[in-house]
Amino acid sequence: GELLSTRVRGISPSATEQTSALANRMRRKGIDVLSFAQGEPDFDTPDNIKQVAIKAIREGFTKYTDVPGIPALLQAVQTKLKRANGVEYDMSEIVVNNGGKQALYEVFQALCEPGDVVLIPTPGYVSYVEQIKLTGAEPVYVPSREEDGFKLTVDQVKTAWTPAVKLFVMNSPCNPTGAMYTADELRAIAEFLVSKGVTLIADEVYENFVYDGGKSVCLASLSPEIKAHTVIVNSLSKTYAMTGWRVGYAAGPKDIISAVINLQGHVSGNINSIAQKAAIEALLGPQDSVLKMLAEFARRREYMYSRICAMPQLSCVKPEGAFYMFVNVKKIFGKSYDGVTIATDIDAAKFFIEKGHVAVVPGAAFGCPGYVRLVFAKSMDMIREGMDRMEKALKAL
Ligand code: PLP
Repeated sequence: GELLSTRVRGISPSATEQTSALANRMRRKGIDVLSFAQGEPDFDTPDNIKQVAIKAIREGFTKYTDVPGIPALLQAVQTKLKRANGVEYDMSEIVVNNGGKQALYEVFQALCEPGDVVLIPTPGYVSYVEQIKLTGAEPVYVPSREEDGFKLTVDQVKTAWTPAVKLFVMNSPCNPTGAMYTADELRAIAEFLVSKGVTLIADEVYENFVYDGGKSVCLASLSPEIKAHTVIVNSLSKTYAMTGWRVGYAAGPKDIISAVINLQGHVSGNINSIAQKAAIEALLGPQDSVLKMLAEFARRREYMYSRICAMPQLSCVKPEGAFYMFVNVKKIFGKSYDGVTIATDIDAAKFFIEKGHVAVVPGAAFGCPGYVRLVFAKSMDMIREGMDRMEKALKAL
């Protein structure tokens, strides 16, 4: 028989990681590849946060902690949710996880089983589908339209709903499109779903990266009824340039969070004790580093957007949040280079890496073929050079 379980054999490899691996293989051959694939800030973790971690090590804060997180961190999350999002949670309604990724995984494990359907708006974050498949539930894509700014309308959600729908995953601002829903848009969708008994996952990891003076809306803040049916998933990864530290959290109804804690106790136990101390400083300490990063990303967004708009073969909905451009590449379909015809977004991504030495992720990875995703959380110099290369490669088509 098969060595590996059916479950793991059903997992698709991460397209983002595949793209990064191809870029690394080319680099080993001496080719200078610029990668716009990995979704993380190029900034270093702010020093005040690092110093607290160093102190924690020196003081021997290096042992197991309570599974959901140390009380001071749960309180810090509680304070943050109240101050920044206007939502109140009891400490027993919060759990700290190894990144938003583990938070999502455990929430799906706690709620889904075979026979359940989970609705995922697309384009959407790559890991939702794989994590949902691991529960035995069925992930179902609900495609949004580019002309709607990649936002679902309540009518589209109503059409997608069936009695088997257990969960709906809302990610605003969105990876990979940067689309951000208004309070009214969110409320309309959430009120419909709650009336049908659907639980909402609000993945708000990009809430701090919002441009042009906009503000992201916390789904759970919209009404007590919506809050009672919502699990917030958030993370320190992007906001504080802490992707490697692995700190995320979930907040929601106590029965769900208790189940997540129970599960986590057998999977990973507590997250890294040192990272927990650092996380308190991140959440409650000075926030100027966040604003500095945001201002810099705003500049890079303007620049990359203007460069993409200047390439006649490409087009892009201007992202309102996050740090991605989701670029329409359909105009180059049918064109050929080196005897190869570009027919899909996967071919287009291959073209950019082979002819431009620029790594991008095909939209198919996000459930939306015809596009490629570029990260603009990269240095201005790198963006300038990357755009020059793409422009040059396209001119030669
Ligand atoms: N959710 C979204 C939409 C993301 O883009 C990411 C990371 O790329 C995550 C969650 C998980 O990030 P982390 O596990 O580092 O918190």
